[in-house]
Amino acid sequence: MAVKGLMDFLKASPSAFHAIENLTKILDENGFTRLRESAKWELQKGGKYYVTRNLSSVIAFTVPEGSLDSIRICASHSDSPVFKIKENAELEVRGKYVQLNTERYGGMIFSTWLDRPLSVAGRVLVKGEKGIETRLVNIDKDMLVIPNVAIHMNRTVNDGYKFNAQTDLMPLYGDMRSKGAFRKQIAEAVGAEEKDVLGSDLFLYSRVAPSVWGANGEFVSAGRLDDLECAYATMMGFVDAKPVNGMPVCAVFDNEEVGSTTKQGADSSFLTDVLKRAFYALNLDEEAFMRAAASSMMLSCDNAHAMHPNHPEFSDATNNVQMNGGIVIKESANQKYTSDGASKAMLRAILDKANVPYQFFANRSDMLGGGTLGNISNSHFSLNTVDIGLAQLAMHSSYETAGTEDVGHMINCARAFYNADLKCVTDGQYDIG
Ligand code: ZN
Repeated sequence: MAVKGLMDFLKASPSAFHAIENLTKILDENGFTRLRESAKWELQKGGKYYVTRNLSSVIAFTVPEGSLDSIRICASHSDSPVFKIKENAELEVRGKYVQLNTERYGGMIFSTWLDRPLSVAGRVLVKGEKGIETRLVNIDKDMLVIPNVAIHMNRTVNDGYKFNAQTDLMPLYGDMRSKGAFRKQIAEAVGAEEKDVLGSDLFLYSRVAPSVWGANGEFVSAGRLDDLECAYATMMGFVDAKPVNGMPVCAVFDNEEVGSTTKQGADSSFLTDVLKRAFYALNLDEEAFMRAAASSMMLSCDNAHAMHPNHPEFSDATNNVQMNGGIVIKESANQKYTSDGASKAMLRAILDKANVPYQFFANRSDMLGGGTLGNISNSHFSLNTVDIGLAQLAMHSSYETAGTEDVGHMINCARAFYNADLKCVTDGQYDIG
């Protein structure tokens, strides 16, 4: 079952760097060739390629055997809200404890990080023989806890509590015997001398393992379902696709949770750089690229809010999203979601043909809702786009909940999307074979 593969992927992906490494392993196993952005590209018809940037974003594509007259993109994100560990991480408390000094990355639900085993994962930049090299690190053991204050010392905690990120949320690392141990521990874990660790991006992660539960095993809970569920499922659909036309592209971007404005985020040139270079390497010019863009389509894939069992009133009056109800097509009038009549119609035609179930999400009219990467990416590469996702509860908790059947629905959706014979005849008219 697809959910088993998802759970293994989540467990092996405690940071965005690990998620991208595991996605590139799937690409390697499926015969894709890694391209370097700094090298000249020689591409073949029928060839399968991928490029990473910062080792935390990846774009994979297949060159069609036939004419390259359109591009079909699934885009999702590799990062999740998390605590990032600062330099000089060790923080002493009255000569009794050693904590790690962290800051928040993205908007998480603070309380879900307390009183549970945590550890550290990310990347370390090490001085090697010839220069600087990157090594991924995952301290694969329970190592830290952010303890709650006892109710006797905070009697009003159940009336609502405002957590302070500097004082309330520091993870406890050890007693004073652990002083000076953290940098050493990280260096050892990557097989380096402490002095040779020149840089790092290290994050906390929850050690609570993914789990399938519910009366009939209908739910799956884990950290990072937003958005690794979409990243994993679209990649599985991508490697499995047999497109009849167009260039299938699977993109997974870092830094969505902090606004995407990094060199490897959706608000960068990464996507257009890769697509244009692919066209140029195939001796196609700018006009061919723009013609293809007009016939192209993107699925911006990021998880969606299921109706909450305790608070159904937070959902829209007529669009009640349910887990295991299939692909969630998201729209908002302010176009924070890219979906519009045309892109919705195109996707519905594809999903209907492939028998993939779908449903619709809209915010309550008096709620602002969230944003994602589709409209940001469209400001760099503009094409018909529809925002979709899978239904989940507790978005940005350290332990989120989704439907076990939906992973398979997203794999089927991505596969059907890549395989669809999609052509823009003229503005507003689309052929779907
Ligand atoms: Zn997301």
